[in-house]
Amino acid sequence: WGRGKIRFSTSVSAAQPISPSAVTEEPINPAVKINHTQLLINGQFVDAASGESEDVNRAVAAARKAFDEGPWPRMTAYERSLIMFRFADLLEKHREEIAGLETWDNGKPYEQFANIELPMVIRQFRYYAGWADKIHGLTVPADGHLHVQTLHEPFGVAALIVPWNFPLLLYSWKVGAALACGNTVVVKTSEQTPLSALYVSKLFHEAGLPPGVLNVICGFGPSAGASLCSHMDVDKVSFTGSTDTAKTVLELAAKSNLKSATLELGGKSPFIVCEDADIDKAAELAHSALFFNQGQCCVAGSRTFVHESAYDEFVEKAKTLALNRVVGDPFKKGVEQGPQIDNRQMLKILKYIRSGIEDGATLEAGGERFGSKGCYVQPTVFSNVLDDMLIAKDEIFGPVQSISKFSNLEEVVRRANATRYGLAAGVFTQNIDTANTLTRALRAGTIWINCYDIFDAAIPFGGYKMSGQGREKGLNGLTNYLQVKAVVTPL
Ligand code: NAD
Repeated sequence: WGRGKIRFSTSVSAAQPISPSAVTEEPINPAVKINHTQLLINGQFVDAASGESEDVNRAVAAARKAFDEGPWPRMTAYERSLIMFRFADLLEKHREEIAGLETWDNGKPYEQFANIELPMVIRQFRYYAGWADKIHGLTVPADGHLHVQTLHEPFGVAALIVPWNFPLLLYSWKVGAALACGNTVVVKTSEQTPLSALYVSKLFHEAGLPPGVLNVICGFGPSAGASLCSHMDVDKVSFTGSTDTAKTVLELAAKSNLKSATLELGGKSPFIVCEDADIDKAAELAHSALFFNQGQCCVAGSRTFVHESAYDEFVEKAKTLALNRVVGDPFKKGVEQGPQIDNRQMLKILKYIRSGIEDGATLEAGGERFGSKGCYVQPTVFSNVLDDMLIAKDEIFGPVQSISKFSNLEEVVRRANATRYGLAAGVFTQNIDTANTLTRALRAGTIWINCYDIFDAAIPFGGYKMSGQGREKGLNGLTNYLQVKAVVTPL
């Protein structure tokens, strides 16, 4: 898996459809031609300008015009909903091309994307398509001499900034909600993974989306991303990425026009296995909670706390699962773990692994680069991890599981909450009282009880503390993109 540097795309329509059977034969289909330099602005693929802020200006101007003058915010919500439903049908029709592009671009296993992520993307668009004509305000029981009502209106132009780890899934959370409310948008893909967003946005136009409503640019974060955040004609920014970048995003938003910001950021989520847990199930889910998507998940269960009575048995199971994990070419059937996103990320992960060894954690499995080509890392398990070790504190964003021992609930709550993050937590117990106690004590936006990584379209998602501001998905996700107007009439 030695792909070259692919940047902007594309006439992705030139890409050959990749069928699952074909891709299992050949690691890379050499017929896939990905050109560079094209962006999707005002319904057309256009060449990128040399200055990225120029691209941003063009995209924002198209979105502004479509919002101020175009049909999208003016058509009935039902018409918007129908276009979104038609788009979801097109995603289904083109699922092989989309899955091929996402795997090509990101390195995630084709089968996992096609069978897990893409159905979630389609479901998310249908979910928000269903909401479009059900958004309404209230009549407010104010002073008896007044008739007061609220109108829920779109913000205007929304900038949607997406990272590389779930390029299309996170696009669906943001684009689905923003468009259902009648906003127009400029999506900025990660510079590393622009292909799927460009491809599907073209399909959105085939479904009847008016030009200018959905624009896609793919420039670098500190240039294109930053000029989008500070643009005076952008009313809203929704950002998913690292906590450090989010501080810049907020600062730029504040210094320009105080645009509203929704932030979905990093995590260091605890996965707590109590003494009465089903250990087989807990070990399996702890494994997928960490290793899914090459460990590049914001919600990765990256601090596994196991009660001392089940600890040795759990560590043995975790080790076996990691040693049996199938690593390899992501286009091959049965592969569970592909390469990391790039060389830099791989080197960063290997450095964390070295720090774990130097700090005295016990290396149970993995610990090195996998093979000598590409950016693969062995599924790695550490036991006897102490809370002050770097691997227990930092977001590694790679296939490195850290297991620690605990003695009682009070202790595990204190340790689980001792982080600047608060994105998610997993709780494994058969005791309802223990589950309720932990659910209320843990400071995180999602608590999964005897499950993990459940991302139904209707479930709100977001972080406490430095894991974010606001919620995406579900009904809460719509409120990011709506202004509330109070209308007061004396009776
Ligand atoms: P990143 O912060 O480097 O980049 C994210 C996006 O922001 C990219 O599109 C990038 O181009 C853009 N960007 C970078 N600098 C910018 C700037 N100065 N102004 C505006 N935009 C800028 O993060 P990443 O490395 O691409 O993604 C990994 C991070 O995302 C991890 O920390 C992960 O935890 C987090 N993440 C969070 C969630 C969530 O929902 N909470 C989901 C996925 C990923």
